[in-house]
Amino acid sequence: DPRIRRIASSIRVVPDFPKKGIMFQDITTLLLDPKAFKDTADLFVERYTGKGISVVAGVEARGFIFGPPIALAIGAKFIPLRKPRKLPGEVISENYVLEYGTDCLQMHVGAVQPGESALVVDDLIATGGTLCAAISLLERAGAEVVECACVIELPELKGREKLNGKPLYILMESH
Ligand code: IMP
Repeated sequence: DPRIRRIASSIRVVPDFPKKGIMFQDITTLLLDPKAFKDTADLFVERYTGKGISVVAGVEARGFIFGPPIALAIGAKFIPLRKPRKLPGEVISENYVLEYGTDCLQMHVGAVQPGESALVVDDLIATGGTLCAAISLLERAGAEVVECACVIELPELKGREKLNGKPLYILMESH
């Protein structure tokens, strides 16, 4: 798809951010190109329209950028999966392992009903720990996670293998 090339070239790579050795994929420059941003949303919307998805769950923070346009276009609700102590209502939590230490995602109890079909959205999959936690939250609430969708995959980190066979759809790989 020729749209992918424009999207890929709009993403800035920042070496040594946030620390030495990391090639940070910066999607804020994609957002500065309205055509690239719209094409990104459209590619996901084309894939997920008419698939019976009633829930789009976005992972803090950049899943909050790409998730809502998809949810609006396919007629699904949007659920923010947030870092600890951000959500005011009753939550369920899922801890996950980072390179150094652990992190946690939370979801509001009652945001999703048992049996709903969910799509999980984030900007990027690295080790897969974040998406794995997101899937667990939705499944604990009784939802069926149909697929995870990211703009970028870092394939060397084999995060895909951490998703327990859950399908992952990406627009591009980065090396
Ligand atoms: P994982 O849990 O190791 O798969 O890391 C994925 C999470 O870290 C996602 O929420 C990403 O937004 C974030 N992340 C990791 N590396 C990058 C990057 O290069 N650019 C943007 N986000 C990143």
